[in-house]
Amino acid sequence: AKKWIRQNDFQGLPKVSDFKVVKETLPDTLKDREILIEAEYYSVDPYMRGTMFNSPDSTMPGSQVARVIQSRHPDYPVGTKVIAFVGWRDRTIYNPDLVKKMTFFHKLPDLKGLPDSYALGVLGMPGNTAYFGVEKILKIKEGGTLVVNSAAGAVGSIACQIGKLKGCKVLAFTGSFEKTLWLKRIGAGYIFDYNIVDIDETLKEYAPEGVDYYFDNVGGDFSCQVMKHMKPHGKIALCGAISCYNNVDPDTKCVTIPFDYNTFIYKHITMEGFRVTEYESEWLDGITNIRDLILEGKVSAEETISKGFESMPEAFINLFKGGNIGKQVVKA
Ligand code: NDP
Repeated sequence: AKKWIRQNDFQGLPKVSDFKVVKETLPDTLKDREILIEAEYYSVDPYMRGTMFNSPDSTMPGSQVARVIQSRHPDYPVGTKVIAFVGWRDRTIYNPDLVKKMTFFHKLPDLKGLPDSYALGVLGMPGNTAYFGVEKILKIKEGGTLVVNSAAGAVGSIACQIGKLKGCKVLAFTGSFEKTLWLKRIGAGYIFDYNIVDIDETLKEYAPEGVDYYFDNVGGDFSCQVMKHMKPHGKIALCGAISCYNNVDPDTKCVTIPFDYNTFIYKHITMEGFRVTEYESEWLDGITNIRDLILEGKVSAEETISKGFESMPEAFINLFKGGNIGKQVVKA
């Protein structure tokens, strides 16, 4: 078996040379209740850049859609498909009984014919991030104005579409012409390329009454601009801050931005961070709801699929270059 490890500390944007493939020798025989799984699709996600995974020579973390290829567990016969948080590994021996967390291991839910890879994107962690962020943190209501950034990404694209379905005016910001075209085609709201438009001017024009809901995937300067436009009682969901993950300057490495305290106080604005893993008990409800919206033709999903285990570092780095439309996955 083989796995990807990080051989260097990331400095700024990760480089292919920061990663290395190493061999792993797996035991010839399984113990009672163990299974051997083989990856079919790997996920690469922005959190993998995070400091909690920053020790050198550590296995790259991550989930995969895998198939059971040997089994000594009655509940997981050969051929069973699972989602497993086992890192960037092609084959893994696993005892499912020892894993209590749904977000670390579960059988592939019934996707009703949708692609298995969706279980890493729209019907998995990123889809649920959008769903719970919008439903539980922002608690969006019809008629509100919702701003979403990284809007053509795995999380952002679903947040926009749920916003539209709930009757919000959605202002979606993304980083390329191609991405704006896709978002327009799926009807995700008013679409802007943040490299071209002035965010402040755009919000003045398209949200003259202010922004009710801000789903923030990006942080940094972008958020400074949006915060000035929040409406009284507006809500901000702090989902991610990808614009800052590769910062090397110690002053900006921790994601800090200035905002006007008085405005936030007098306007009674709520800013709430969240981690999708907090919604473990409702995990399958989120997935089932999004799945049904896709089957009803109300939500569209897109994927950028790289080919082969060898392409994992490039696929991961691609996220920070804006190279993905929808969810970035790697096919084994
Ligand atoms: P995406 O599919 O959105 O991929 C990353 C995208 O981020 C890129 O395509 C690019 O889109 C954008 N981006 C990259 N660098 C920058 C930059 N410097 N400034 C602005 N945008 C940039 O990833 P995900 O949907 O998986 O994740 C989106 C966000 O959600 C991330 O911040 C992530 O950390 C966070 N997240 C949080 C979770 C939680 O539980 N709180 C769970 C999952 C994700 P573009 O071309 O449009 O700029």
